[in-house]
Amino acid sequence: MTGREPRVIVIGAGVAGITTAYVLRERGFTDVTVLEKGSDVGGVWYWNHYPGLRCDVPSQVYQFGFAPKADWQHTWATGTAIQRYHRDVVDQLGLTSLIRLNTEVTDAEWDEQHRWTVTTAAGEQLIADFVICATGVLHHPFTPDIPGLADFAGPVVHTARWDDDLDTAGKRVAVIGTGSTGVQVVSALQPDAASIDHYVRSAQWILWAPMSFRQLPGVAAVLSRFPKLHRRIYRLMALGGSALLTDVTTRPSWRRRAVQAYARACLRILVRDKELRAKLEPDYQPLCKRQVISGSYYRAIRAANADLVTDGIAEVTPRGIRTADGAHRDADVIVLATGFHAHNYMRPMRLIGRNRIDIDDVWAKGPRAYRMTAIPGFPNLFTVLGPNSPTGSISLQYTSELTAGYIAQWLEKFRAGELTTIEVTDQATTRFNDDVATAMGPTVWNTGCNSWYLTEDGAVDLWPFDRTTMSAMLGSPDPADFHLG
Ligand code: NAP
Repeated sequence: MTGREPRVIVIGAGVAGITTAYVLRERGFTDVTVLEKGSDVGGVWYWNHYPGLRCDVPSQVYQFGFAPKADWQHTWATGTAIQRYHRDVVDQLGLTSLIRLNTEVTDAEWDEQHRWTVTTAAGEQLIADFVICATGVLHHPFTPDIPGLADFAGPVVHTARWDDDLDTAGKRVAVIGTGSTGVQVVSALQPDAASIDHYVRSAQWILWAPMSFRQLPGVAAVLSRFPKLHRRIYRLMALGGSALLTDVTTRPSWRRRAVQAYARACLRILVRDKELRAKLEPDYQPLCKRQVISGSYYRAIRAANADLVTDGIAEVTPRGIRTADGAHRDADVIVLATGFHAHNYMRPMRLIGRNRIDIDDVWAKGPRAYRMTAIPGFPNLFTVLGPNSPTGSISLQYTSELTAGYIAQWLEKFRAGELTTIEVTDQATTRFNDDVATAMGPTVWNTGCNSWYLTEDGAVDLWPFDRTTMSAMLGSPDPADFHLG
């Protein structure tokens, strides 16, 4: 075989796509195109701009290892600041020319000539040797099927498609959903709303943290003056953070019990009203769902204009919401903080692999991949932040960089003429998923709560191992796990 430069199409320009573009460019790949359906880069930070949006991971950790930023304004950055950071990184690292915005991929099909045909919403067809899906996890908004919702007289807005012209000041606002988003949006809208009703189907444990804290004066100056020190601090924080999170989530330990005790203490100390506290107290262990962190929610929900509604929603009427007990509460605006179709990955894009198999059929019971990145039946296709990515424990930027580096090693083999096709075996994928299922046993995600971590067949779609195991699994390609052509 003679090698040649692979034509690579990356789908998505969020954290995973930006990282992949950077890593491939650094490895000398010259034919890389990133297709992004939005009109800007940033992924989740582009699509989400609801009031109160902040990242609950400290900014000095929630950033690319290859582009640390010294001058974050807040310890926990706002969504706007993070979105600006992504745009700046792309500009400053010279990635802009690789990215085509406003280009939605609708289809990708593998053919007999061993290549992918990628079709865009505009009908354009592009040919690639490799497709890398960096399409994100929490992307497609979930709208609940509540009777009457379509007939509500006022605006109904999903947080992930926020209407920036919507003014909720002085309005009666109903917020449905109590994940990280619902908690943030209630805290932000409560002060100016005439009233705010928070409809809570399952209560959430909330860890208190001073989220609006400003980065200490002098930190930015020191970190930019000493970039090596900055990188070292970043690495230490990322390592320490993932070690702690992996420890508390994946096995019972005193550290898990300590974090859980803190969650319980936050509720006890910050909510003195026993009736309200009882309604706010979940019936499952803290950390079982994606942990919610907030410095302002308990204050907001205690306010005189706020109500926590725990009776189930029976229907939406043109004027408001009727709960299962028959009570009707008027509303001017309904905010859906109801989350995402978290297991779609690249779908609803149509993805057709070898022998015309359809990803919808392969993943009918839930997404499965080999080490987050390869899927049997789909040659020359990889995912970055694919199934089992560590959204509950390890930095997504680190995971993206590691996965992109792993993929780059296969692309180098193509360039060197050592392979033209590569497809992971069923056996290796089954073995990996069996290991995942076994390792999920002692995790906190498996302790009896419902969450977006669970797939249709009840599997936990997360990473149950530590960072070292991830590095080992993605450090070097294991040819025995693949059909190479
Ligand atoms: P989510 O955690 O999936 O929460 C969705 C909420 O909607 C849940 O409370 C759910 O109740 C409720 N819900 C769904 N259908 C409902 C219905 N028919 N009636 C009543 N309630 C209904 O979604 P999210 O809050 O958007 O958060 C998703 C993830 O995004 C987070 O876990 C986090 O990973 C990420 N995020 C991060 C940040 C950050 O600061 N870094 C901020 C926002 C989001 P049940 O629990 O009963 O199903």
